[in-house]
Amino acid sequence: MIIYGSKATTLETENLTMKCSSCEQMHTTQLVVMQRYAHIFWIPFFPLGKTGATQCSHCKLVLKKKEFNASLKENYENVASQAKTPIWTFSGLIVVAALIGWGSITSSQNKAKLKEMATAPKSGDIYGVMIANKQYTIYKVTHLGNDSIYYQESIVECTNIGDMKRMMHKGDEIYDGTEQAMHKDDLNEMFEQGDLVDIERK
Ligand SMILES: [Zn+2]
Repeated sequence: MIIYGSKATTLETENLTMKCSSCEQMHTTQLVVMQRYAHIFWIPFFPLGKTGATQCSHCKLVLKKKEFNASLKENYENVASQAKTPIWTFSGLIVVAALIGWGSITSSQNKAKLKEMATAPKSGDIYGVMIANKQYTIYKVTHLGNDSIYYQESIVECTNIGDMKRMMHKGDEIYDGTEQAMHKDDLNEMFEQGDLVDIERK
């Protein structure tokens, strides 16, 4: 269960030089400007709008923003326009943005590493290869020629990347024992087209 909702934090308070509409006392009305924010599990996530209220210290009359008259509204707008939204109300968004940034850095690092291994194949490399939509197979490099890569293919095909990765860690019993060959350029081609999904090198 995800617990979420909105909360408010006080940004500014100002004592107003006005007469209370209820008890008619002067200088007893205080205006409070608040920042509303969305929280998930009480962690501030992102700011919502500002809101405000007044309270009379004499008769305790509380007026909410929607009950403000024209002059209270003007006072409120003045104070609210100068009150800055605290950065911490963005905490959740900042964390999410950081995670996305980190994720894309890691994925481009992975891609660079994959490219490096695809350009310089080694005997013993295990390739996770997509041969069609939702169809994956494993190649194991047995040895290398001048321009050729000799490999064996797995007996079983997989329907998703998770299974493919698990298969890549299995032993020689998953391969059919028949040697096939491809040109090194074909491997690069496979990589460029995104069909060479993963490489395992010991
Ligand atoms: Zn009052």
